[in-house]
Amino acid sequence: MTKNKFATTAVRAGINSDEHHGAVIPAIHLSSTYALKGFNNKRQFDYSRTGNPTRATFAQAIADLEGGALGIVTSTGMSAVHLICQLLSTDDLVVIPHDCYGGSYRLFTHLAKRGQFKLAVVDQNDEQALAKALEQNPKLVLVETPSNPLMRLVDIEKVVKASHQVGALVAVDNTFLSPILQQPLALGADIVFHSTTKFINGHSDVVGGVLVTKEQALGEELAWWANCIGITGSAFDSYLALRGLKTLPVRMKQHQENADELAKFLQSHPAIEKVYYPGFENHPGHDIAKKQQANFGSMMSFELKGGEAAVIKLFDNLQLFTLAQSLGGVESLISHPSTMTHAGMEIEAQIEAGISQSLVRVSVGIEDIDDIIADLNTGLNASQQ
Ligand code: PLP
Repeated sequence: MTKNKFATTAVRAGINSDEHHGAVIPAIHLSSTYALKGFNNKRQFDYSRTGNPTRATFAQAIADLEGGALGIVTSTGMSAVHLICQLLSTDDLVVIPHDCYGGSYRLFTHLAKRGQFKLAVVDQNDEQALAKALEQNPKLVLVETPSNPLMRLVDIEKVVKASHQVGALVAVDNTFLSPILQQPLALGADIVFHSTTKFINGHSDVVGGVLVTKEQALGEELAWWANCIGITGSAFDSYLALRGLKTLPVRMKQHQENADELAKFLQSHPAIEKVYYPGFENHPGHDIAKKQQANFGSMMSFELKGGEAAVIKLFDNLQLFTLAQSLGGVESLISHPSTMTHAGMEIEAQIEAGISQSLVRVSVGIEDIDDIIADLNTGLNASQQ
């Protein structure tokens, strides 16, 4: 799929679909229920938990962008992850990365503790560890690349090949890149999912999720479960996210341009010990990123030389950046993974995943790059005092 096609698919989703009034933009359908035509004669939609026209338009748009068979819109990114868990029985093994999003880690570890499935937490770049886990014939392998918050890259094609050899399904969290920069289904994955709260909606005013399957049958199985457990997304959130989606390709371009400049600046600042950004040639995942991504993305993190005390001074001296959870919005956000996004991980697991107290994560927005750099420069200078 070319970049032009992405832009067209994103912008044209649902346009001109209103046969009654000719509304250019698809209407929002808030009705919870739909009249039957007559006894035992349903229309396409009957009840909004099961199916809703606005949600269906959004789901189709994401499925088109990801090149999959079926899209399912969920109430949050975590409910998309939880939906995937419905595929698992008590004896099934799941392999998750040791450095995935803290919320995903919390969900998998707590459900495993309650005996809902078996769990292997693995550094997926450690070939031996991954091979050992795959020897146990897992049902599902979860991949998150680039990982949150250290931007570790996992070779999707390689993991898919090894997982499929043992009959495991592969689900990829594509939240950090969006379908514009990475296409996991084309790389062989069975499921791709997102927290649409992030880049897809892009305006930090929706909490939502979406999951797309490569095959229709798996999509139908998951759609059945989504209705059964009641985690489908709302019509209003779908409407907003569809609106946000229209500018995803242009937003991603601007995010990328700003991120490339900011990463260079951060690398040259004396307050910083290390920058984690896959765009750098010396980043261990640089070649994988070049192979499987259309660009390097706009998420990065860095380690401050002065430890936690420096982190606090940095945050206290920022004016443009907002200290907040989340990412992928048009506004620049900064966070401290250990106490924020990854607080759901025990401290030992954080250390294992390489998350230190001096680690800071940045979601680079689309403000003027000079202002973004000037703000961080002020904060970083203050962090050294
Ligand atoms: N996956 C990743 C990579 C995330 O960063 C997040 C949230 O930060 C989620 C999943 C969960 O999404 P949500 O917060 O929409 O439930």
